[in-house]
Amino acid sequence: MGKRTLIKGGTVVTVDPQLGDLYPAGDVLVEGDSIAEVAPSIDAGDAEVIDASDCLVLPGLVDTHRHTWQALFRNIGSDWTLAHYFTGLHGTMSELYRPEDTYAGNLIGTLEALDSGITTLLDWSHNLNTPAHTDAAIDAVSESGARVVFAHGGGFQHWQPISALDHPADDVRRIREGRLSSDDGLVTLALAPRGNQFATMEVTERDWQLAAELGLRITCHFGDGEWGKNRPVAALEEQGLLGPTMTFVHCNSLADDELAMMAANGVTASCSPDIELQMGHGWPATGRLLDAGIRPSLSIDVCCSNGGHLFGTMRATIGTERGFDNARARERGEASVSEMELSCRDVLEFATIEGARACGLESKIGTLTPGKRADIIIVRADSFGMTPLNNPVGAFVYNAHPGLVDTILVDGQVVKRDGKLLGVDAARVRRLAIESRDDILRRSGGKNGARMGGDWVPQAYEAVEA
Ligand SMILES: [Zn+2]
Repeated sequence: MGKRTLIKGGTVVTVDPQLGDLYPAGDVLVEGDSIAEVAPSIDAGDAEVIDASDCLVLPGLVDTHRHTWQALFRNIGSDWTLAHYFTGLHGTMSELYRPEDTYAGNLIGTLEALDSGITTLLDWSHNLNTPAHTDAAIDAVSESGARVVFAHGGGFQHWQPISALDHPADDVRRIREGRLSSDDGLVTLALAPRGNQFATMEVTERDWQLAAELGLRITCHFGDGEWGKNRPVAALEEQGLLGPTMTFVHCNSLADDELAMMAANGVTASCSPDIELQMGHGWPATGRLLDAGIRPSLSIDVCCSNGGHLFGTMRATIGTERGFDNARARERGEASVSEMELSCRDVLEFATIEGARACGLESKIGTLTPGKRADIIIVRADSFGMTPLNNPVGAFVYNAHPGLVDTILVDGQVVKRDGKLLGVDAARVRRLAIESRDDILRRSGGKNGARMGGDWVPQAYEAVEA
């Protein structure tokens, strides 16, 4: 049976439509790596008890797209356009990463996510310049304690649009036959190819074949800005290359009929509203995806520009979409919408069960359902901003933040308690990140004006069409 842990007396938001919310309070029993029972009151004998009174208990959050290695340069791009980012990150820093820098970036980046309540992270790792970089990235995410889908995205040299370079298939095969051969571990493998927006259709077909051969899900950028207007999804549909093992990230500039093609083929979506709004990818596609029949997942994306927690992402999502809904109501001659079209609960589902679905993990995580793995977050609701707790889901979406995430379980293991990650040498993680940042900056020799401090705006990358 394994160790038994009783999470007692919290407001339980299961995100399972059958179980609903246990308000004001309920219990969750964990046995071994799984959820055993969810009920108003559970007597679990000698189970270890976690007191969750004055707390919310929810499924862990899922971020379905993050370039975690970039965490070393967090916020360097907070005032950059997409074109600045291409010069400043991809044209300056990417090739200077040594494997130990990849390790340091992935470690602090994954711990940042976990600390904020993201129990599952899809690490979209596209700076794997050698097999040693790949190993270092996997070492770091494995050490973090989070559930991670490691999406192999090749090296920086593959990101020259439009590339005819093949994805480094040998490295993917090596990992698939080696340390990530199981689909049941805490860290699993996916393929993050460039897709036909950034590579030729011949390369794309080979990448899709590689994923099929190795039994891997595909996660791919589509519909970000100008690139997405060339009907890339329609081109895939013509080739018969759409399927339910795929997640398309952004989707902003895809046409409505392309979103319908995704829906018809079971393709899931990942929206990164902060970065899409900042970098001009287009308006978040939330409402258009919902109209097409796709409930999106949420993501951080470029963690050297925007924040790394999903509370901000949930608020960007709901704020933008409600603005659209009200604007459409005014166009119809109404003062505003008569009822909210997108609810806080919708957005919570995007950040949990829809994230799980986009990772192919919906049978394992994403709701507090008995039988699923125990990926659980306990969020303090006794702060001035959360008290009185009148609407648990509304409070979580609009008032919660990483500082309130008190306790986290991943796969039944307590990885954060009393607001502190367990078994993490925080001083070491910080030191490694700062040393790697300093070393890369030194080796850049000030290329493209590289410097820290907040006043570096590199020249815009010219190949990027406005
Ligand atoms: Zn991205």
